[in-house]
Amino acid sequence: MTADVPARQGVPLHLDRTTFSYGETSLAFDVEFPAGEITAVMGPSGSGKSTLLNLVAGFETPLSGNVLIDGRDFSSASPFERPVSMVFQENNLFAHLDVFSNVGLGISPSLALTPRDHKAIADALARTGLAGKEKRLPRELSGGERQRVALARALVRDRPVLLLDEPFASLGPALREDMLDLVAAVQTERKMTTLFVTHQPEDARHVAAHVVFLENGTVAAAGKARDFFSSNGPAAFRRYAGAMNER
Ligand code: ADP
Ligand code: MG
Repeated sequence: MTADVPARQGVPLHLDRTTFSYGETSLAFDVEFPAGEITAVMGPSGSGKSTLLNLVAGFETPLSGNVLIDGRDFSSASPFERPVSMVFQENNLFAHLDVFSNVGLGISPSLALTPRDHKAIADALARTGLAGKEKRLPRELSGGERQRVALARALVRDRPVLLLDEPFASLGPALREDMLDLVAAVQTERKMTTLFVTHQPEDARHVAAHVVFLENGTVAAAGKARDFFSSNGPAAFRRYAGAMNER
């Protein structure tokens, strides 16, 4: 980012009394995510982390309640209309498209790209350490590089909300730390309101300013990361983090 670009502020995100159900399973979220900061979304498997992100992204629609982004109601908007980008655990790259095109899809699903878009893609590839790999196919990349492509695709969209659903879960610890540093650096530059799902308390500790802890389809605790990770943190979270650290 150049010096003449005004500092970004980030947008608040509010799941306002949203409910959702998969048949038997009911979920309910009433939670605000601070503007322009990284919130770790944690909780046991099946607690509703992916569903929460899918409600924000528009892959699911709430039964009741509202998804408010910067105060505007996006509850029934399609995913592409929302000011949101998402990176999944299994990067959903297209196997037959090269790195450049996979990133370009973030801007245009038909790859109708302007010269300015080409520049944005080149910048995102440079930012994620992929310069020179434009022509590679996903199978010619390492797992870490594939996740960098997925992150670059999110960056070219330049949306104020970034959702990361266990994006680095399949990477080893050293590579994961590099990726977390990259996310933190990009977040500092762009001030995206970032929701980062992770199973690893140390990953949350490394990058997140806030934590939202889910249990049984709802928010069991939420607050500043430094409070969560103190010895006086929420009991439910301490039990969970203690169990994770013992593994
Ligand atoms: P997490 O990401 O925290 O592991 P999910 O949001 O994927 O949890 O799932 C929350 C709950 O909803 C779980 O009980 C899960 O079994 C259920 N669930 C998730 N997706 C579906 C689906 N497509 N159909 C039915 N139940 C689902
Ligand atoms: Mg999940």
